[in-house]
Amino acid sequence: MGSFYVLLGPPGAGKGTQAEIIAEKCAIPHISSGNIFRENLQNETELGKKAKKFMDAGELVPDEITINMVKDRLSQPDCKDGALLDGFPRTPAQAEALSEFLEENGHKIEAVPLIYVPSEELISRLSGRWTCKEKGHVYHMKYKPPKNEKICDIDGSELYQREDDKKETVAQRIKVYEDQTAPLISFYREKGNLVRIDGTKAIEGVTEALFRVINCK
Ligand code: ADP
Ligand code: ADP
Repeated sequence: MGSFYVLLGPPGAGKGTQAEIIAEKCAIPHISSGNIFRENLQNETELGKKAKKFMDAGELVPDEITINMVKDRLSQPDCKDGALLDGFPRTPAQAEALSEFLEENGHKIEAVPLIYVPSEELISRLSGRWTCKEKGHVYHMKYKPPKNEKICDIDGSELYQREDDKKETVAQRIKVYEDQTAPLISFYREKGNLVRIDGTKAIEGVTEALFRVINCK
């Protein structure tokens, strides 16, 4: 049976940052639905074309498209012992589909850490976020600056500011989170999986708190 974890939290809470660190330490695949969508956008695939207008507007990509895409990814052999999900599920229908898929394959969700950060802080995090073109590694000009300006420390590719990290789109994304994703908090609390993590601490402090919940195999 594999160990699956779902990182829950609003845009800018630090899900991607923490998932990168944990994935490396635990050698567990980091599955970010946002990164998969952005790869498809860059490669101008059919999926990318379908997702673009929703992403640009700060809306969610429809469930059917998203669920099929993530199921395909979770069906790859590297996920047979588990995965760390970041940005999925984001709606009750996605959460139901994930539970069903894991159950069918004899897996379960070990824990759902909810990274909590108030919205004023999210806005300052997202306005300073720089993302690497190649693999989506994440930096912040103040809180996690790259060694060389606008170059990824890990793969040397160029850093850019995401179109949807603009102020107006960020406000919309936070609203979408409150309306469509926040209901998952009670969904997972009822299943007994939810663990609240204070996301306002520095990056290392949040990692430490997550490692009290996530056990590397
Ligand atoms: P999410 O994946 O939840 O949207 P990210 O991991 O991309 O969030 O983080 C959003 C921004 O905040 C990035 O620029 C990242 O470098 C920065 N960041 C992440 N965690 C922290 C933290 N604990 N303190 C300060 N800045 C952080
Ligand atoms: P963030 O890291 O800031 O939370 P993501 O990179 O996870 O943002 O997502 C960027 C965009 O990709 C979302 O605003 C949405 O349009 C789309 N997206 C990502 N994951 C999902 C999902 N699970 N369901 C629907 N849309 C998604």
